[in-house]
Amino acid sequence: MPMNERYEPQSIEPRWQARWEGAGAFRAGRRPAAEKRYVLEMFPYPSGAMHMGHARVYTIGDALARYLRMRGYDVLHPIGFDALGLPAENAAIKDGRHPAERTAENIVSFRAEMKRLGYSFDWEREIVTADPGYYRWNQWFFLKMLERGIVYRRQGKANWCTGCNTVIANEQVVDDNRCERCGSPVVEKVIPEWAFRITAFAQDLLDGLDQLGQWPERVTTMQRNWIGKSAGAEVDFAVAGSAERIKVFTTRVDTIYGCTYVVLAPEHPLVEKVTDAAHRAEVKAFVERMRRTDVLERTGEEAPKEGVFTGAFAVNPFDGEKVPVWIANFVLAEYGTGAVMSVPAHDQRDLEFARKYRLPVRVVIQPAAGERLPPGDALPRASTEDGVTESSGPFSGLPSSKARDRMGAFAKEQGFGEATVRWHLRDWGFSRQRYWGTPIPIIYCPDHGPVPVPEKDLPVVLPPQAIITGTGEPPLAKVPEFVNTTCPRCGKPARREVETMDTFVDSSWYHARYLSPKDDQRPFEPAMAKRWLPIDVYVGGPEHAVMHLLYFRFWHRVMHQLGLTFEDEPCTRLVTQGIVNGPDGKKMSKRWGNVVAPGPMVDRLGADTVRLFMLFAAPPEKDIDWSDEQVDGLFRFLARVWRLFHARQDCFAAPAAALPQAAGAFLELRRRTHRTVKRVTEGMEGDMKYNTGIAALMELVNALYALEPATDADRAAVREALSALATLLAPFAPHAAEELWHEVQGEAARDRLLADEPWPSFDPALVAADVVTIAVQVNGKLRGEVQAPVSAGEAEVRALAEAEDRVRAHLAGKTVRKVVFVPKRLVNFVVG
Ligand SMILES: [Zn+2]
Ligand SMILES: [Zn+2]
Repeated sequence: MPMNERYEPQSIEPRWQARWEGAGAFRAGRRPAAEKRYVLEMFPYPSGAMHMGHARVYTIGDALARYLRMRGYDVLHPIGFDALGLPAENAAIKDGRHPAERTAENIVSFRAEMKRLGYSFDWEREIVTADPGYYRWNQWFFLKMLERGIVYRRQGKANWCTGCNTVIANEQVVDDNRCERCGSPVVEKVIPEWAFRITAFAQDLLDGLDQLGQWPERVTTMQRNWIGKSAGAEVDFAVAGSAERIKVFTTRVDTIYGCTYVVLAPEHPLVEKVTDAAHRAEVKAFVERMRRTDVLERTGEEAPKEGVFTGAFAVNPFDGEKVPVWIANFVLAEYGTGAVMSVPAHDQRDLEFARKYRLPVRVVIQPAAGERLPPGDALPRASTEDGVTESSGPFSGLPSSKARDRMGAFAKEQGFGEATVRWHLRDWGFSRQRYWGTPIPIIYCPDHGPVPVPEKDLPVVLPPQAIITGTGEPPLAKVPEFVNTTCPRCGKPARREVETMDTFVDSSWYHARYLSPKDDQRPFEPAMAKRWLPIDVYVGGPEHAVMHLLYFRFWHRVMHQLGLTFEDEPCTRLVTQGIVNGPDGKKMSKRWGNVVAPGPMVDRLGADTVRLFMLFAAPPEKDIDWSDEQVDGLFRFLARVWRLFHARQDCFAAPAAALPQAAGAFLELRRRTHRTVKRVTEGMEGDMKYNTGIAALMELVNALYALEPATDADRAAVREALSALATLLAPFAPHAAEELWHEVQGEAARDRLLADEPWPSFDPALVAADVVTIAVQVNGKLRGEVQAPVSAGEAEVRALAEAEDRVRAHLAGKTVRKVVFVPKRLVNFVVG
């Protein structure tokens, strides 16, 4: 059949999608003898239609998955839908449609869009978290973790979103104490809740970060800070004239001789007990006022420091000094011990407070070198650095770190304290008073209290008939058929738990469910975990740095304890992709009217062009702005490739035996072809510089247009180039690539698929021929030689030269005044 002259993606793309699907080309496990690769993108939350951000993340992962298959790996590249959660429920409150209905509809549209973009997912492994076949395993994990004490019930102070009417995680409370999802104010509420004891894994999660050398440092740093380990000491201050003790935590016990007052959080249980009669009214008023004040407002950096004296005194156990006990806005009951020893000379916040309330300031740490600090009264600001102790009794004259060790040990010996470690990480409260989540498998019996639902009775299915109003009781409480049940222990009437699980539970282990998604005996097969885990490359948004990515690591460790997985960390390499902004450089938003959706773009220009744009505009981690011009340019590039193949059909049958050996334009073409293979391959490896690979293909196309083949040898060189071009395009523009590759291969390849073909290799001899030797001079004297690509410019050659030991020795300590560069010949450093 003669080749169509025009590039018409709409006519070719559906055809190849059907062929890939029919052949099961992307099924994982097809090459059991080959090495595995698990490529995963964060699964979408299907609210509304697919947007450009989705198109970008899946295109990045897909290009890699396609490349790895062609490299001969057995590739797992699955997809599913994170279907439970607040957005669907909130939408239901607005328009009365059932979340299940809306979600199912959105999934249908997402699936269709993803197929139209040609993503090489193993669709047979698709999971939907709203499916009871999925969330029953959330319930199963809950039971296993309850048995092990990793799940527990607590009286939690919770962040209650006044808009969503539910508890939200600390991580979801953003600036100004507002809900990250809906922007409503968040208030504190005390309610019983279920929690995961993630803090028991704090040290492991911290240590595990050292194994994650292929995660962006930004993400591991955020996790490290979130886990927030601080080493310090706990010290008990006795309350004078009372049996009570105030426990403080400090990271700077070396400054304790400088403590001039102690502060309790207004919520601290000792406030009532220690306040004397004379101060009671004032303290009570202050505590009341603090209760009504927003926590972040109260403790914010710029918030004025304020407090009141309780009338009580605490005894510093190191020297017996009595210091006044205050309460203040900036101390919170939840953090540390809810009490602070204040050392105004060495803590800025304590100093501000001391100046305001005329409390003494005493210097006890002097800088290890340099000028001494003035006396406390004259101190311009707190000195917070380590140094050498003074006025510290028997601990004077010690470096801070040594003082901390000795003083911690002394406190322990004397029984009033010890060295200890504090964490910023809190347990993960996961009870939600909402409907669209996994029911928590607990039954409350009047006689037996909370009783776990027996494993054989799972799943506890979410009843479809709930009425979702967004106010008052959890929706499940209003479904009597759901609530009323019997106690699994005694058979008496009992009530089901009406709370549901945080949807971050669903996404904490979905990567493992893909391994055996239809298994109804266990969450997944351990043998499959052995085959496929850890994930080799995980692609997703950097906004998941602490919540999802921390919970996911935590859950993986729990699964390891349960014998389901075999390694500590779920994922070797993490790629965080940038945003796709609107054409105006602003974040895409209906409000700005700058939203470009993938669907209409595929209609107009085809999937391959949209994919190429996503990969060509920038490396994966950089933000990009949508650009119609650049997108049109990429469509024109594909059309140009198409016309090139059309114009060179006479080369398709040229035999490889005829390939040119003699010097000339077509041997040069061969070199360029092999160099292109090398460059595209390098772009796929390492830092995923897909854009440099695509740029190399553009250059190859330009070179081909400049040549008119006349002999069999010429035509064989052109055929080699066209075949390589089609193959190298496969990860980026897979539909056009299949079509063009089949044109070149002809009848013989009719039943094959490019998606399955091996990735091309390059001939090192042909690539090496492009290297030249360049002389390196320093002040006109020959000091070395470097091998550089013929095309190398001054910057590249200079960098190579500066890396040479001999050259470096001659440049050391000198200033380069000028560089003389003669392409392909020499570089001369003029130094002075
Ligand atoms: Zn909210
Ligand atoms: Zn019972």
